[in-house]
Amino acid sequence: MTDTSTPTRSQGQWALGQREALNSNEKMKADENPLLVRERIERVYAREGFAAIHPDDLRGRFRWWGLYTQRKPGIDGGRTGVLAPEELDDEYFMMRVRSDGGQLDLAQLRAIADISTRYARDTADITDRQNIQLHWVRIEDVPEIWRRLEEVGLSTTEACGDCPRVVLGSPVAGVSVDEVVDATPAIREIVDRFVGDLSLSNLPRKFKSTVSWLADVPYEANDVAFLGAVHPEHGPGFDVWVGGGLSTAPMLAQRLGAWVPLAEVPDVWLAITRLFRDYGYRRLRHRARLKFLVADWGVERFRAVLEEEFLGRPLLDGPPPALPAAPIDHIGVHRQQDGLHYVGVAPVVGRVSGKQLTRLADLAEAHGSGRVRLTAYQKLLVLDVADPGPLVRELRAIGLEAEPSPWRRNTMACTGIEFCKLAVVDTKQRAATLVAELEERLGDRPVPLSINLNGCPNSCARAQVADIGLKGMLVTDADGAQVEGFQVHLGGGLGMAENQGGGFGRKLRGLKTTAAELPAYVERLSLRYLDGRVDGS
Ligand code: SF4
Repeated sequence: MTDTSTPTRSQGQWALGQREALNSNEKMKADENPLLVRERIERVYAREGFAAIHPDDLRGRFRWWGLYTQRKPGIDGGRTGVLAPEELDDEYFMMRVRSDGGQLDLAQLRAIADISTRYARDTADITDRQNIQLHWVRIEDVPEIWRRLEEVGLSTTEACGDCPRVVLGSPVAGVSVDEVVDATPAIREIVDRFVGDLSLSNLPRKFKSTVSWLADVPYEANDVAFLGAVHPEHGPGFDVWVGGGLSTAPMLAQRLGAWVPLAEVPDVWLAITRLFRDYGYRRLRHRARLKFLVADWGVERFRAVLEEEFLGRPLLDGPPPALPAAPIDHIGVHRQQDGLHYVGVAPVVGRVSGKQLTRLADLAEAHGSGRVRLTAYQKLLVLDVADPGPLVRELRAIGLEAEPSPWRRNTMACTGIEFCKLAVVDTKQRAATLVAELEERLGDRPVPLSINLNGCPNSCARAQVADIGLKGMLVTDADGAQVEGFQVHLGGGLGMAENQGGGFGRKLRGLKTTAAELPAYVERLSLRYLDGRVDGS
């Protein structure tokens, strides 16, 4: 038995017999498994309306079904964290639809488009975790939305909450000429066997996973990641990483030094998830992600506990994956394994509408097989296209650009103050304006800088790992007024080797900009970059 003796203060690890709920969130989960709230939503809340919803369900268990209340419109960022939760809650919901591996077929795309226009005021945001988020959803409509989603094999199950979230995968799995093994079967098996499993739905905190041959997903920011690697004796398989996560205490995932074949990925994933469930810290939510356990134990001890207590066998040692020199975003026209093409397009910061998705579905059906993929950079791909030229033109006509400016291509934004109750500043609209202004000021000058806008320190759009990472906060302007602004991180990167620019950006003390000055600030930085000197000033 491995020595798993722990710190003197109780962290609430189940494996050590500490099952007492140590905070209100743990109590909510212990009182009733959050997945069980679905029955109440369908039987009671959808009939009786918003006012009937119990607060523990509204702000707790609903998340396990992909539902968050939206921020009440008109509440400025200065009041975030000051108002009580019920004062921030609108009566409408954000609903997150899982798309594991980012894969959508034609029926699924049409279903999402139709739900968006019927029930979500035509909203649909592609997130940086390959999900689709709808807004303005009424509780009365939720059962019918679930019925329509499930009819085509989609769901909102565990799209949020302390449970296994959407599994990221390469958006070109099964079609890329650079791929050796398609990881899709492992993703499907994980979802089919374990998403919605009551024994895995009370984890200490959210649990983010990636299974991908290519490093075209932000695997370093995940709790667990399996990345393609060729073993010298056993051939192609997957290298295992654990303990990544950004938010307010960012850490990059670390290699376990272990290699697993495709067929074993689901069982090793299960063992890691159970280890997290049983040994993960449950006392403080801001120290509950797997990364804190990995940081405390180190990867050697983590691997030993995994093998001895959860797998019952040793893992094979394996080589590191070959990492690209720069992030891969798949924008533009690319040849597939079968001689057809895929076309990658950039909506502005992932924002599309139901009507746009309906047109996209028509085009994907007319020019391809109907298959569409979502990327972890808020972009879209249309697969299986024989003659891409006409499709590129028709996609442009509906606002989906296969030849975007560097600004449109490389800018992401989180939900921000428009809908998010934790936000301090606006992000989506601000990012769209920023992109337009930079296109105007700098045109198509080749400035391959990624810009990630976040509405608060939680870093849902990965502030620390962009060339220019922006973290929303209130700042003091030249007139001494408190206005929306950003703290700036410079020089981060993901999806590439550390010696080629991967890793965290530098948070420079005092480096802040007001939101109004942001375009001029980024323009200055870009011109310095083109000059070959960036110092953050
Ligand atoms: Fe909301 Fe903050 Fe996440 Fe943006 S980073 S979506 S503002 S919690």
